Amino acid sequence: MRSVLARCRILPFSVRLRTPYRALSTSTAFRIARRSSEFNSGFTSSYDPNEEGRGPMFSKNTFGVPQFYPRDLKKRVDEYVVGQDRAKKTISSVIFNHYQNVRRRQHQEEQERKRDEKLMRQAIARDRNAREREPHPVEGWHHLASMTRRYRADDISEDEYPGHHDSIQNMHQAWQRAEEKIDFYIPEDTSRTPPVKIDKSNLLLIGPTGVGKTYILETLSKKINVPFTICDCNSFTQAGYIGQDVETCIERLLIESNYDVAATEQGIVVLDEFDKIAKRETINGRDVGGEGVQQALLKLVEGTKVTVNVKDNRSSSSSRSASPITTNYTGPGSSSSTSGPQPTPPASGKVDQYTIDTSNILFVMCGAFVGLDKTILNRVSKSSMGFGSEIRSRHTSANKADLPPALFNHLPHRPPNAEDTSTLTALDLATPEDLQSFGFIPELIGRVHNIVALSPLSRSDLLRILTEPRNSLVAQYTALFETYPSNLFFTQKALQAIAERAEKAQTGARGLKMEMERVLAEAMFDAPTHYVLVTEKAVRGEEKVGYWGKDGRLEVERLIREEDGLAGVPGQDAREREIVSSLGDYREAGQSGA
Ligand code: ADP
Repeated sequence: MRSVLARCRILPFSVRLRTPYRALSTSTAFRIARRSSEFNSGFTSSYDPNEEGRGPMFSKNTFGVPQFYPRDLKKRVDEYVVGQDRAKKTISSVIFNHYQNVRRRQHQEEQERKRDEKLMRQAIARDRNAREREPHPVEGWHHLASMTRRYRADDISEDEYPGHHDSIQNMHQAWQRAEEKIDFYIPEDTSRTPPVKIDKSNLLLIGPTGVGKTYILETLSKKINVPFTICDCNSFTQAGYIGQDVETCIERLLIESNYDVAATEQGIVVLDEFDKIAKRETINGRDVGGEGVQQALLKLVEGTKVTVNVKDNRSSSSSRSASPITTNYTGPGSSSSTSGPQPTPPASGKVDQYTIDTSNILFVMCGAFVGLDKTILNRVSKSSMGFGSEIRSRHTSANKADLPPALFNHLPHRPPNAEDTSTLTALDLATPEDLQSFGFIPELIGRVHNIVALSPLSRSDLLRILTEPRNSLVAQYTALFETYPSNLFFTQKALQAIAERAEKAQTGARGLKMEMERVLAEAMFDAPTHYVLVTEKAVRGEEKVGYWGKDGRLEVERLIREEDGLAGVPGQDAREREIVSSLGDYREAGQSGA
């Protein structure tokens, strides 16, 4: 019953994703993937199986100097994600190591395959030579007979070879055995030393919502193009209860890798809302969503074989590198079919069964861990020695600024004895014990090798997020308005006001989008208007967003100058004094501090 449910759950995804997914460009697929995370059950992916060459991971057999290093990955992420430097560095290194490990394994497998082939060829050649040297049994008997005749001509008659028939049969059997040997026996190569096995390093990201935890991972996975999926731990329950088994994340990864088992076994699974599976106090003593799920995840993270059943509703021409075992499926949903030609027999109730080894899948856990900071502060301030008294002498409800900088000295990617703690919080001091007291079993926490905290986004970070990154919100809405067609402008002060309000919402960068939607709601409805200007007062609700017709350009420019005071400031060069005529120029001027 459970497997039937699992099949039903994944069927619609596979049907929906596969056909249009292929036709889309990588960027479109990426967008769809992000959207799917919002509309579906918390799954998304950025892996494009049809990208040319299937990305560096799958196209390169050669193993040499890496094409990029963690710092290159970070540079890529910097284009999209503002701040979070320490997290970006650690995540880049972990993902880079995972990628290197995959390449290394592929290289070793390739080398072993070549070595085995060579040994096989040598064994066949040896056997052929041996056979050529041996006389044919009949010839051998003739030879023996003639020799015997020479000495015992009276004893043996010419047409009478005792055991002739039997001996030919024996010889054939010996040859057969030799051939079997070649197929199955490969002489031991003593020159081979067992390769060093490098274990994966799982990662835990802690930080408030909307600060870039999953965004950094998505951006990075895009760069290395490994199968990548995000699962929402909220929906997980212990096997046998209503909800999803933890194994569904492997099913999702398999779908994202286009049913390529080898690719799936090297993918990345992000377990979002990981803190939601902390142990819970229950009335009836059953904790089906907490500890039970942790126990199940433990096996998955450590490495186990997961069997995934996928209903075969694809055409036989679909490109699959794995050859799944096909079994008869008689459960519900067997009559549904995909649109388009169906070269395979119509849905005859077959399921494909895939076995996935999870030992090399990288697991990244993410969560806000609300309340963990208090546990940490308690622990730190309880210590009677060292910094405890210092913390107590400050506020006990300490925020990040109250923690002595020396407490953070052990953190990687931080200069020794650095005084600046502006981007650090109590979460940076999280230890496995803190996570245990939060409700995690030590066995699972022991399998997390890196704990990285992301800091809440400051107002200046939020302001930068509005304009700086690729796909910034201002760029997005400007592009959207151009389609109406309308020219959308913001004053610098309006952007600051948006950042300020988003900061108060405490939903991280997500609050920015909410603010943008609110501010632009009427302008979107009243479209098309040739010029749209958002001022500080419009953001604060003190006036309406301004609209102008084709001849309103000068007025818009005047208002921008007036609010931001770009013109007439002493010391500004001619370019800065120029009227800001496009958002691009304006943004540049804003960023240069004008
Ligand atoms: P969470 O930390 O809860 O996983 P996400 O990483 O999914 O949040 O971020 C939500 C959205 O907010 C992202 O899609 C991205 O557009 C934006 N965002 C969050 N943090 C940043 C950041 N540091 N820089 C740029 N954009 C960000």
